[in-house]
Amino acid sequence: MLEVEVYYHGIPPSGEGFGSVGRGEHAGIPAFWTLSEPYGCRDWWPGKNDLTDKADSIDVIVRSPDIYRTASNGLLVKDEVNNHIRTCHWKHRYPIVSYLIAVAVTNYEVYDETAYPAGIPVLIQNYVYPETLAQTMQYTAQTAMIMELFSDLFGIYPFAVEKYGHAQFGWGGGMEHQTMSFMGRFDYEIIAHELAHQWFGNTITLNSWQDIWLNEGFATYLAGMSYQYFFDGYHWPFWKSQAIEYVTSEPGGSVFCEDTANVERLFSPRLSYYKGALLLHMLRWIMGDEAFFKACRNYLNDPELRYGFAGTGDLKAHLETMHGRDLTWFFDDWLYGEGFPSWHVRCTRLAGEDYEIELTQQQSHPSVEFFELPVAIQFRGGDRDTTIVFDHRYNNQSWMIYPGFIIDSVKLDPERWLVSAGNTFEPAGSPVSTNVYPNPAYDRLRVALTAEPEAVSVADLSGREIKLKYLREGSGLTFDLKDLAPGLYLLQIKNKEGLTVKKFVKR
Ligand SMILES: [Zn+2]
Repeated sequence: MLEVEVYYHGIPPSGEGFGSVGRGEHAGIPAFWTLSEPYGCRDWWPGKNDLTDKADSIDVIVRSPDIYRTASNGLLVKDEVNNHIRTCHWKHRYPIVSYLIAVAVTNYEVYDETAYPAGIPVLIQNYVYPETLAQTMQYTAQTAMIMELFSDLFGIYPFAVEKYGHAQFGWGGGMEHQTMSFMGRFDYEIIAHELAHQWFGNTITLNSWQDIWLNEGFATYLAGMSYQYFFDGYHWPFWKSQAIEYVTSEPGGSVFCEDTANVERLFSPRLSYYKGALLLHMLRWIMGDEAFFKACRNYLNDPELRYGFAGTGDLKAHLETMHGRDLTWFFDDWLYGEGFPSWHVRCTRLAGEDYEIELTQQQSHPSVEFFELPVAIQFRGGDRDTTIVFDHRYNNQSWMIYPGFIIDSVKLDPERWLVSAGNTFEPAGSPVSTNVYPNPAYDRLRVALTAEPEAVSVADLSGREIKLKYLREGSGLTFDLKDLAPGLYLLQIKNKEGLTVKKFVKR
């Protein structure tokens, strides 16, 4: 074992990125803080400034004039005043990556709250400006319920033995410093976002800045998704609609970050945050809640990754294990590919209450040839409705549907699971003359009936009758053609009006 002691001193520069060392004031009182993400810790302490190694523990000791308090990672183990100099000693005994180590100093008011994830008390410490104490307390009061929700969904708060906390600072946004998020403002979503990072970003840290979406996509999604569980779900549909609208406001851009030297691109709210969040949302739609959440928990609990580092491939492996299928196609389209699909839905009334649905898709960016996705479409007729999920794999793909009513409106993706925009519809038309479809037919043939038949039969071209199984469905019949040899056949329908003969081709 090698022990190294490093002595250094100096006045730090304000730094690159978000300004790794910040100075400001509030109500005329000076404030000091650090914000090292992504590359700034070297501006104020000598550390291992990369994503390959975490310190197994840290001690942070800060001396300041006694009217100030210091907020940092872990637990405050000493707070002493001598000759008007206050010494605060913070001790953190969990693995921590360099960019999550931080201090903030000003004349803080400090108050504690308690959360009970899985019934276990967890300390929540708040370091806030005295002049905004009352408003801030209203917001931080929501922290406990969010921590309890995330603990239910993703496993207990990962630093429960120490604490969680907020320290107000002079930068505009929030920063998820481990066990002590720094907050430029307080509102529900930013509290949920920074707290979510304690699981996604801090417990498991990205192993490359190119995968910044693993931090920001998860934190953004968890904050949005938590609306599903709180406030009677009122904000959830709005959050989804606004996120989709924002992501699709430009035709290109990938979630994967190619150019990590460009800090603005790295932290692009549209791509790294919201498109990353919706990538997870779509995975949840494709996999179902049970498999999706279990995969996330397995990822967080993976001993190779927990309190260490991971890349997209590690998450993908856990998702695939629970899904039981390869997801490379999905990550190709949605992580590395750019843009989004626009669908055209054509709804043709064939006869009675039988319809043909045809889907075509255009892509907003040439990097993706086709977005293969399950697409939910809601059909309404009068006061009735039905939602059918179509597995859309290629253009001009069509399906027969029997909604059991006359369709008067069609809505694509009614629950907003998919990133898409500019979808168009061709409304249901009047019945077409043919009542046998599809033609040519493959493994089944649908016969739409306008009146109750006396007899239905299939014959070959010589008139010889062929026995085929069929099912009564809605206002028509469905023949099973699996055992029928390819060729041209005649369908004969006898009813009160007489005998109707239709030709059809079996392929
Ligand atoms: Zn974040």
